Amino acid sequence: MALRQIRLIGDEILTKKCREVKEMKPRLRELIGDMLDTMYEAQGVGLAAPQVGVLKQIVVIDVTEEGNDPIVLINPEIIELSGEQEGNEGCLSVPNKVGVVKRANYAKVKALNEDMEEIIVEGEGLLARALQHEVDHLSGELYVDKVEGELMIAAQEDE
Ligand code: ZN
Repeated sequence: MALRQIRLIGDEILTKKCREVKEMKPRLRELIGDMLDTMYEAQGVGLAAPQVGVLKQIVVIDVTEEGNDPIVLINPEIIELSGEQEGNEGCLSVPNKVGVVKRANYAKVKALNEDMEEIIVEGEGLLARALQHEVDHLSGELYVDKVEGELMIAAQEDE
């Protein structure tokens, strides 16, 4: 298990556009494994490659309580959005803050998996929110620019 350092808001790399992945290489597989470890360790539901300093179109997501259903998306592209949800959103690059963001309630994404095979991932609610949030990261967008009202201090969970 290898943890990567999570880049924080203010770091220029979080505002840059990510490059498409053309072929799977051992180094990228290692990166994906590290991204999953880093996401689980930080108790996040999603992490995008630029958040660990790599400008490639790679995202990992797991919205399950148990943390046992990882989704790996390479070159993800949102192909359908519908409905609306409003709720708190946070980001591992913006520690201890949350803000209200309006998102589509349903999202459908076309991407490649770790074996560079085409996959379709669709979801509602939290998964739809995570898909939109993480895909935004790949074009250098942070949720803080979409927050309605003010960023708030996140409630601290007891250890
Ligand atoms: Zn984020």
